[in-house]
Amino acid sequence: MTTAPSLLESRSPLSGELVGSFAISDDEDVHRVVDQARIAARWWADLDWVGRRQRLLKVAAHISRHAEELVDVVHREVCKPRDDARLEIALSLEHLRWAALRAESTLARRRVRRGLLAIHQRASLGYEPLGVVGVIGPWNYPVFTPMGSIAYALAAGNVVVFKPSEWATATGNWLVNAFCAAIPEQPIVQAVFGGGAVGSSLCGAGVDLLSFTGSAATGRRVMAACASTLTPVILECGGKDAALVDADADVERAAEAIVFGAFSNAGQTCVGVERVYAHREIFDDLLEAVTRRVASLEVGTHGGADYGPLTLPQQSDIVSAHIQDALDRGGTAAYGGLHSVEGRVVSPVVLTDVPEESLAMRVETFGPTIVINAVRDLDEGIDRANASGYGLAASIFGANRARLRHAAGRLRVGMVSINSWVMYAGVPGLPWGGVGESGMGRIHGADGLRSFTRPHAIVEQAFALPVSPVSFQRPDWLGTVLMKTMKIRHGGWR
Ligand code: NAD
Repeated sequence: MTTAPSLLESRSPLSGELVGSFAISDDEDVHRVVDQARIAARWWADLDWVGRRQRLLKVAAHISRHAEELVDVVHREVCKPRDDARLEIALSLEHLRWAALRAESTLARRRVRRGLLAIHQRASLGYEPLGVVGVIGPWNYPVFTPMGSIAYALAAGNVVVFKPSEWATATGNWLVNAFCAAIPEQPIVQAVFGGGAVGSSLCGAGVDLLSFTGSAATGRRVMAACASTLTPVILECGGKDAALVDADADVERAAEAIVFGAFSNAGQTCVGVERVYAHREIFDDLLEAVTRRVASLEVGTHGGADYGPLTLPQQSDIVSAHIQDALDRGGTAAYGGLHSVEGRVVSPVVLTDVPEESLAMRVETFGPTIVINAVRDLDEGIDRANASGYGLAASIFGANRARLRHAAGRLRVGMVSINSWVMYAGVPGLPWGGVGESGMGRIHGADGLRSFTRPHAIVEQAFALPVSPVSFQRPDWLGTVLMKTMKIRHGGWR
């Protein structure tokens, strides 16, 4: 990415090939787009569930029809292998479809049981759209990540103003054009382009909710900017995800999943495996199985590459610093090392016996490195996994399903996969999001749909009571009868 005054040129990270040029939005542009979006918001919210569903399914059809074009843009813009881009697009389509199909059953107004005190009322709950949702995206999953907000926000009846990452602007532009092509009546997704300053403008432009995906550091800035207008936020931030491998795990299968979880997309995955806690009984076998696999990984931009170069130039310094710090503190390089970092091209690095206070154990590395440490048992693995400021996702490998499920429940994260990596992403009905440094709020699933709404309660008087407790005409005895009733109902008479 290079910027000339008011022009953002998106370039392929390695070759420098120009992928697209985009006018950078200034503060006035951002406000104008948000104001214009209000017109589309009224039209979109006034459609019924069927109208919105049909149109969103048209978008899915459009994207699936032209998917190879999108694969090409993603591949050129962030150097992701084409098959990884295809997987990302497939996941996005499944989420778009799920959100479109399930919005009505999740959000439409439904009756709620009236309580004892409101026996004469009919009660109902609906989930109303908020209006205009601002979406700020990262570059590492430039389709899947923003779609997790865009699809659910739209299905819930909102319109979207989207600021893609400055490193994935062409991909973001393609997506916005896809919505416009499939739904020509009104621009229900509009884009603003640029870097952090444009994101900051969007936070202050009067959107009704800001859904941000990116680093925890930027998440803090977004939350601070939104605080001045009490704009609600969803923050999907980084992670330091752990994989726990129990003594009875199928080591080869665990290694296969862990290697993909750690090294695919050059480790630039929010839920990428960065720490492994292996039961000491299988530690040596796991280390051998992982290093054997990483030895055959190919790095580059050619068709057969398993993963590409780092997307951001400054990221290789962070990866080097984490490796150096781990080694300085007594860790061992079981495969690769500092020499594996050659600018943006980083060959796999496997570290072991790395102290927990090291950068590589505490701070998101976001590169093709992994740490494998031995633990006494699963309990110690859980304690170490939980001793992190982040809390996004985790995976556990083993044979005793009941034990693993119990262990999964003890992990302080938003998502856990047992005997696989990341498969929760493939289940659109499951919520996505973390705790602590990993953020707050949820996208995906029914919780994700509700995140983009305001719950709206209505009570309607069905019949009048002979005496009303909310009237100045209430009789003197009513309070006493009410308290006696409460004693009987809640056990206070005992
Ligand atoms: P980043 O924080 O640098 O940028 C994210 C977005 O925020 C970009 O669009 C950027 O332009 C914008 N931005 C920067 N400063 C801003 C400001 N002051 N106000 C508003 N917007 C601003 O993150 P990145 O490098 O693009 O993405 C990588 C990070 O995202 C990693 O930490 C990764 O773990 C995380 N991530 C999280 C998830 C998730 O679902 N939890 C998914 C993908 C990536």
